[in-house]
Amino acid sequence: RDLGIEFDKWEVPVVDPVTFESTKPGVFFGGDSAFGPKNIIWAVEHGHQAAISMHKYCNGEPLTERLPRGVNLQSAKMGMHEWSYSNNFDPVARRLVPNVDLRKRFEKLNIEVELGFTAEQAVEEVERCLNCDLQTVFFPNLCIECDACIDICPVDCLTITDKADEDELKKSLKAPFLNKDQQLFVSEPLKQTGRLMIKDENLCVHCGLCAERCPTAAWDMQKSTVEIPYAIDEMNQDDAKCRQVRKAG
Ligand code: SF4
Ligand code: SF4
Repeated sequence: RDLGIEFDKWEVPVVDPVTFESTKPGVFFGGDSAFGPKNIIWAVEHGHQAAISMHKYCNGEPLTERLPRGVNLQSAKMGMHEWSYSNNFDPVARRLVPNVDLRKRFEKLNIEVELGFTAEQAVEEVERCLNCDLQTVFFPNLCIECDACIDICPVDCLTITDKADEDELKKSLKAPFLNKDQQLFVSEPLKQTGRLMIKDENLCVHCGLCAERCPTAAWDMQKSTVEIPYAIDEMNQDDAKCRQVRKAG
């Protein structure tokens, strides 16, 4: 307390949410010690961000000038009908993990109750994965408005319709628009008729069948990677800058 660090009403140090520096320059906090109960994932992220600040502090650089975060998208298409992930739609309901019969459990109290899945069942469960890291990406200039993607979409989340205001567009969707908080994807006008491709993101199950079926590759499935810079990236950038200066000198 005598070090000159300010504490808040919860008796934890006041910390800058970007740099994780306390009110005493050069002293950093993260995780529970600064923000109260959080999970381990947050604590690790705070550690990474504080490490960037420490690196900058030691180099006499401004702590807030940090490398930007980014998202990278890369096509998952490997060949004519080949994708780097399993693209299919299986409407099978979630399977319950089988348990030992109740009578047997009473006969033997230290028995393992959950039997787990067989290898085949586990494979089926994995196939229900929604591939959240794979995004549908649309190229309006390639679309020939053949409707094949609309026919095959298992959840009716695609519609091609005339331009209209937002309320009219919502009424023209193939499936009812239920999640009012979710924005619709609305494409640029299509080349042939000027109509719009609309996708209800709330319904899409990322199965990839639209991209598989499209004859012109107007739909693609692209793997998204969130890029979060860490201290090592800041260091590498500093090294690159030094090399440039040395070269110029
Ligand atoms: S990826 Fe989405 S839009 Fe494409 S067919 Fe599957 S559910 Fe429909
Ligand atoms: S299948 Fe391809 S070309 Fe046909 S309407 Fe869909 S996006 Fe357009």
